[in-house]
Amino acid sequence: MKNRIYLDYAATSPVLPEVLAEMLPYFNGKFGNPSGVYGTAREARQAVEQARRQVAEAIGAEPGEIYFTSGGSESDNMAIQGIARAASGRGRHIITSRIEHHAVLNPCRQLEREGWQVTYLPVDRFGRVSPEDVEKAVTPDTALISIMSANNEIGTLEPVGEIGRIAGAHGIPFHTDAVQAVGCTDVDVRRDNIDLLSLSAHKIYGPKGTGALYIRRGTRIESLIRGGAQERGLRAGTENTAGIVGLGAAIRIAKADMAVRTEAIRHLRDRMIRTTLETIPGSCLNGPAEERLCNNCHFSFDGVESETLLLRMDLAGVAASGGSACTSGSTEPSHVLEAIRPGSEKTGGSIRLTLGRETTEADVDEAVRIMREIVTDLRNLRSVLLK
Ligand SMILES: *Cc1c(COP(=O)(O)O)cnc(C)c1O
Repeated sequence: MKNRIYLDYAATSPVLPEVLAEMLPYFNGKFGNPSGVYGTAREARQAVEQARRQVAEAIGAEPGEIYFTSGGSESDNMAIQGIARAASGRGRHIITSRIEHHAVLNPCRQLEREGWQVTYLPVDRFGRVSPEDVEKAVTPDTALISIMSANNEIGTLEPVGEIGRIAGAHGIPFHTDAVQAVGCTDVDVRRDNIDLLSLSAHKIYGPKGTGALYIRRGTRIESLIRGGAQERGLRAGTENTAGIVGLGAAIRIAKADMAVRTEAIRHLRDRMIRTTLETIPGSCLNGPAEERLCNNCHFSFDGVESETLLLRMDLAGVAASGGSACTSGSTEPSHVLEAIRPGSEKTGGSIRLTLGRETTEADVDEAVRIMREIVTDLRNLRSVLLK
């Protein structure tokens, strides 16, 4: 297709050629089962353990605190359900926010059906959770606090350091979904007093279907996938060696060039935000201007429908998203937009454009130009229809 401009890096990213090259030998040449005792098995085991060190190093953890999973969703489920099951007998209360990813919200809803109490904290109009609200929500029954590091729809960076200190002061395990934050911000589980952290490879130029959960040593947690003794008995199943190698390589590269890469992307992000707000009337930015993911732009436009806008953007060669990939296709309004501006989706449509390594200034300018034309066109059509 001509002139495709991909601006949906928050949904997924292409595997970097270097990452793919490191993965390939583990599909056939070094295909051994990491649990085996012979040569090719030992090669696979060494590769898995090297990736574990790479992931640990990138987030300030110990290798023994990293557990490989099938991705961000599994890591979130493992954290929430695993802690809840281990905590049965203690309190049955969880604190989370209204704007979490569904991989956090839905396990929480399931626990509610099983008799747990869940507090879904509100956020301010920029999508920020207030640490004071977290503190106030703590009860003697609170068994887990789960607040994301960065929101996948509107890009808000949450005050995880402050929340981690509050959780620590009360002795409550603190989980954070850092799937969007890794590679974009300086993630450090010790500094921020994080007990569990979810991450995913395909959001950072690694392969789909691989992720990890960091679990601080000494945290009580139950296994969800039972079987063999892989991942120190916590997550059964023969390791996805190639995927794990890909995650290790991707996170190593993300960490190595973070300062330079995020600076360049932040510059493009600010250019897109500025030109959109300046040249498209009736537009607004969702999420904060400063404390936001370096690659996230999220706009609302008065008098325009999200679905139509996205379809027209696609026809014009721009791949963007209505919010999160996981909710598009459903007609449900975004729970995140509902939380920051209730009812806003009745008056206008919104679009998320997320930038990445391949994005150029020309892409940004072209995407804004196309967006301006489409928004103008849709409004004209609408005013004709309303006459
Ligand atoms: C993408 C995403 C997930 C899910 O990760 P998968 O690896 O696709 O399962 C979870 N949380 C956030 C914030 C995400 O952006």
